[in-house]
Amino acid sequence: MTFARYVFGVVSSMLTICVISMAAVAPHLTIAVDATDAPRKIFHAQLTIPASSGTLTLYYPKWIPGEHAPSGPVIDVTGLKFTGNGHLLNWRRALDDNWTVNVEVPGGVNEVHASLDFVCATPEDNTLFSSGASATDKLAIISWNQVVLYPKGWTSDQITYSPSVRFPSGWKFGTALQVASHTGDEVQFEPVSLYTLVDSPIITGQYFKLFPMNPGQEFPAEMDIAADSPAALQAPPELWEHYQNVPKQALALFGTTHYRDYHFLFTLSDYVAHFGLEHHESNDSRTYERTMVDPQLRMLHASLLTHEYVHSWNGKYRRPADLTTSDYQQIMQDDLLWVYEGLTEYLGDVLAARSGLWDADQYRQNLSAVAAYMDHRSGRTWRNLQDTADSAAQLYYAPHQWDSWRRDTDYYDEGELDWLWADSIIRRQSNGKKSIDDFCKIFHGGPHTAPTVKTYNFDDVVSTLNQVVAYDWRGFWAERLANHGPGAPLGGIENAGWKLVYDESRSDMLRAWEDERRGVNASYSVGLLAAEDGVIEDTIEGLPAARAGIGAGMKIIAVNGRRFTIQVFRDALTAGKNSKEPLQLIVENTDYVRTFNLDYHGGEKYPHLVRDESKPDMLTDIVRPR
Ligand SMILES: [Zn+2]
Repeated sequence: MTFARYVFGVVSSMLTICVISMAAVAPHLTIAVDATDAPRKIFHAQLTIPASSGTLTLYYPKWIPGEHAPSGPVIDVTGLKFTGNGHLLNWRRALDDNWTVNVEVPGGVNEVHASLDFVCATPEDNTLFSSGASATDKLAIISWNQVVLYPKGWTSDQITYSPSVRFPSGWKFGTALQVASHTGDEVQFEPVSLYTLVDSPIITGQYFKLFPMNPGQEFPAEMDIAADSPAALQAPPELWEHYQNVPKQALALFGTTHYRDYHFLFTLSDYVAHFGLEHHESNDSRTYERTMVDPQLRMLHASLLTHEYVHSWNGKYRRPADLTTSDYQQIMQDDLLWVYEGLTEYLGDVLAARSGLWDADQYRQNLSAVAAYMDHRSGRTWRNLQDTADSAAQLYYAPHQWDSWRRDTDYYDEGELDWLWADSIIRRQSNGKKSIDDFCKIFHGGPHTAPTVKTYNFDDVVSTLNQVVAYDWRGFWAERLANHGPGAPLGGIENAGWKLVYDESRSDMLRAWEDERRGVNASYSVGLLAAEDGVIEDTIEGLPAARAGIGAGMKIIAVNGRRFTIQVFRDALTAGKNSKEPLQLIVENTDYVRTFNLDYHGGEKYPHLVRDESKPDMLTDIVRPR
């Protein structure tokens, strides 16, 4: 007993010393990135890491903030070497975690030098998000989590870095990092915590435009745009006006900011991964080269930037407690993504409309597409909204096949419908005096701050909603999260004075959607999605195609005896309305060919919202500029 107590006493005093030393001398590292080989899709990094003799355990970030998954691309870390006092050091990867390496540091070494290359995915790899293609001949995005290592035993707030980058000759750059010095193509940035470093990617390119969005105003925001051609930057004047409205409308919505200045890092290229990733003071948003100059692409992707911008408040500043970790190795739990992503999807779309990036009709076209999509999620019968969030780390990487039956990250779209529903209840219960804007001002507003995290849980969401207007919000969300349909949660659209209907005319939005995907969306008629070569991406369980025995991965060869094209398929759906003959599809499946007869005579079907004059029109007020 005495021995045990003695040991306990020693251990606890060591822990105390350790805690004190952690607070006193958190390590300061340098990281120098050579991006001059970006067109070859390889980035070189050099780090200096304080060390002492023994095992130095280093982490490569595994759980990437905003990606909600252990997506740190450790497989693309190459050329990894460590030296101390000029001698090569032995290292080995941890057997229980591939994102951890242990370096053997001999006596007399107080600084370890690490060098590594990050080899960047190419478009053909189909790698997703920030791990996806990030460099072309003319531009690149540097994500610090991909080139950084950090020592075990410290939080991401405690460790600091002095970062520097050497850019390709003549390339310009944009980032939320502060520049300390700039010599030629070499830039030294001010020291930052690991947290801020990972939160501050850099966009760089030969064809580059810096666009101040609110010059001279409080809380400055700018766009740093890199494109694969100068022509892609020649947006029409009204688009720049709409972009200028975005910070203004966001400030009107939230009441303040939680950033010092904000950078929209906007990449326009057909050869990078397409997605948006949020940060406190920037977003990394990537889409097609001609998005700013092509009206169809502009409409389709209008809410990309506003969605990511909303995350500065909803996701970065206010963040689910169990998604908030002190480093990048701990599991981020995704159960509240219906707030983090669902509310952001709703507000991002609303902000796009309030800023003029969409007109009210385009907003409704998008909303009708979202509603119809969720209305045909056969998987809602077994997987509820909560389970889509709980499974997020897997579902981001789900294949397209069986999308409707499996469901994927539906907390975006179903979340949007549910938050519209919540907004409509606030408006109804307050007789039009309050709205989701009041929720945002309480939940996301408050005094202006520099980037910081204020965590929340389910109860905080419920209690803030009750501060806005008293209602059974706990019961509302419990039902929404557990609901299995049938059909989509359309209460918000209906409360707002609109109805979801289907007819034969395609909205501009759905036409653009089909053009972009080079396919046909017959989800709402026979229940299938097919590419232009006839390959079926998905079928909807319970609808005619699936009932007839057709499934994802099969290929339509012919329609009513004629070789498949999208137009032939459309014409056959229309002709079927006035015919008693079944729709005949000849389908290839694993080298076998079969004929399927679909007893379908409903024609093409596409969703729209139509006005319900028996109720006040809330939607028009929701998207009205503030
Ligand atoms: Zn998001």
